[in-house]
Amino acid sequence: MKKHNFSAGPGILPREVIEQASVAVQNYNNTGLSILEISHRSKEFVAVMEQARQLALELTGLEGKGYRALFMHGGASLQFVMVAQNLLERKAAYINTGTWASKAIQEARFFGEVLEVASSKDQDFTYIPKEFEIPTGISYLHCTSNNTIYGTQFKKFPESSAPLVCDMSSDIFSRDIDYSQFDLIYAGAQKNMGPAGTTLVLVKESVLGKVSRAIPNYMNYRQHIEKESMFNTPSVFAVYCSMLTLEWIKARGGVSEIEKENSKKASLLYKAIDSNNLFVSNITNIEDRSMMNVTFRLQDDSHKEMFEKLVAQAGINGLNGHRSVGGYRASIYNALPFESVQLLVDTMQQLKNKV
Ligand SMILES: *Cc1c(COP(=O)(O)O)cnc(C)c1O
Repeated sequence: MKKHNFSAGPGILPREVIEQASVAVQNYNNTGLSILEISHRSKEFVAVMEQARQLALELTGLEGKGYRALFMHGGASLQFVMVAQNLLERKAAYINTGTWASKAIQEARFFGEVLEVASSKDQDFTYIPKEFEIPTGISYLHCTSNNTIYGTQFKKFPESSAPLVCDMSSDIFSRDIDYSQFDLIYAGAQKNMGPAGTTLVLVKESVLGKVSRAIPNYMNYRQHIEKESMFNTPSVFAVYCSMLTLEWIKARGGVSEIEKENSKKASLLYKAIDSNNLFVSNITNIEDRSMMNVTFRLQDDSHKEMFEKLVAQAGINGLNGHRSVGGYRASIYNALPFESVQLLVDTMQQLKNKV
């Protein structure tokens, strides 16, 4: 039975990417070798790495603007550390919009003073803070573009004279924004770009080299730039699959076309939640609702068993909310087809017809 994958991460990948990757596992580009057993220094893989880095810059419109694309290990969680270690001199400002932002703050505190300039913790992270002061004398301002667990998303980013750093793990390549407003962007691959095991960093070179601390080589962005993401053995397969996804995005017309599809999917689902009195959205501020992770719950928990049975019968996977929030979370990443969202909406309607 075909499954409809609404998992939050690792999340759905395009069918075409899974198919191409399966062939490459058997025989990569007719080399007679599997992608899993070729040298990362081979010309075949060096070309993959170059293509992946190039496409990441091209799709975000950052080509020729002083940025470098890196594929690294350690997930977004290692970036919580590296960002601060490489950029934080005395103090930095953070916007706390959820669990991931809170973790980024905790790690940054190892390197200097962290000013939490805004937080939505007072309302369980169900909105995006908008009115706040950005202090002077900070090394950077950090934000999380999409809050995967809660289902909120920045639609407009703060204007800051200090460099702007953004964790885009769950919405990179999902929409056509001005990526050059950020000086450093990072994203774990496993939400919207590839399998788990690699992390994309897009960094403007001019923000580096400004801190006085000594940085161990592995933790230093400069080293990874110089070594062209081959400081040590990269996650060959994860980078390869990410490259395929980036090619898939490009073939569909780039992030602006992807955004149109994402916007259709999100509107359909939010409309179904808002118009069905059995359900309620977790996010009441409509402008703060995520186009990637749609969080909602049942008005009346007595319908839980019946709804979850219908969901399972429909072949819908990964709809449970994060363990810290409960309810439901439909992750409608780039690769999720419109028909899967339609099926979820039909399933919600079926519940209404039954009660
Ligand atoms: C999943 C997620 C993370 C954590 O990513 P890891 O790659 O597991 O370290 C960080 N930030 C956001 C926004 C996420 O969605």
